[in-house]
Amino acid sequence: MLQRLKNDFHLSMITLVGVIASGTLLPYALFRIATGNYLVGLVDLLMIAVSAFSVLMAWHTGDTERPGFLMAAVFCFGAVLVCMKLGQDVLFWIYPLMVFIFFLVAPIKALLLLLLMVCAIVSLNFSDHTVIFANNFQLMAFITTTLITSIFAYIFAYRTHLQRQELRRLATTDPLTGAATRHSLTDELNYAIQHYQQKAVVSGLMLLDLDHFKRINDNFGHQTGDQILSQLVPLLKQMIRQQDSVFRYGGEEFVLLIREIQLADLHRLAEKIRHAVWHQLALPDGSALTTSIGIATVQHAKDWESWMQSADVALYQAKHNGRNQVVIAQAEHHS
Ligand code: GH3
Ligand code: MG
Ligand code: MG
Repeated sequence: MLQRLKNDFHLSMITLVGVIASGTLLPYALFRIATGNYLVGLVDLLMIAVSAFSVLMAWHTGDTERPGFLMAAVFCFGAVLVCMKLGQDVLFWIYPLMVFIFFLVAPIKALLLLLLMVCAIVSLNFSDHTVIFANNFQLMAFITTTLITSIFAYIFAYRTHLQRQELRRLATTDPLTGAATRHSLTDELNYAIQHYQQKAVVSGLMLLDLDHFKRINDNFGHQTGDQILSQLVPLLKQMIRQQDSVFRYGGEEFVLLIREIQLADLHRLAEKIRHAVWHQLALPDGSALTTSIGIATVQHAKDWESWMQSADVALYQAKHNGRNQVVIAQAEHHS
């Protein structure tokens, strides 16, 4: 549970806002009901109920977008109703609410919701039966300060959103080759295993290791080695489909996760890749570069470690048999 809160920023924000909002609103809700102000009491209770429902929904489904929007929309709607009933007494509460909204939904959605809420509160003030602001100075101050708060909160939230995206990209993309890093490999393998157990969808794994790469570095320099690695990944990506992924597992060792494929096609693809590396990548002196590949389908995997282990043993066998070849994992021969 703590791990999920640590890893999922939106889930932790929805939970935090839900807990703080419910804790703050509950005494008010009870007080309003006890003093006979039933409408405000009920609106407060509605916001608490929606908060609890949204937090549970986010935890249960893993989707944070819809519960976040539901909570934000109900908070804004509730704020308008409470302002209508209690007038200027509650205006100060609008400001923390504005900040909360930016934690619940995407920055642009939060800005639009808040502008709509401010417009609704100001329009209500001009209707016949409602007086929210004491005078026009207070009204102008409210419009100006809520606009300034919304715009600055928007800029801050938008910049934070971009930085979070960039951080995620840096953590999940290898800078030299553009392949995915090991960071997301375990999740992807676990997802493929789950997909097989629940829907019998077979995925395949290839573990690819360049042959005698140390020698290449020694003969042509480390920079040439780097150049070959950065040429290899586009070549691999060109040969797989959009739904498949390439991960840099170690120095010159790569994992390809091929989704929805049977063993025969996986083997064919691995041979195609082996040929492409052999014939399309060359060393500075024109000599060929080769690769060894171990393959295993998800069918015999108990967990991601055993799946990787099967492909690793096959790769070791390919090296042992003389390199520049594809070896199918042992378990596949018994099925
Ligand atoms: P084998 O055929 O048995 O795989 O032989 P090998 O020489 O490739 O052996 P091994 O896989 O153990 O060695 C990998 C070498 O790759 C070691 C290291 O010098 C080199 N290497 C690892 N990462 C990088 C990198 O980012 N750039 C370069 N240029 N070389 C790297
Ligand atoms: Mg090697
Ligand atoms: Mg290696």
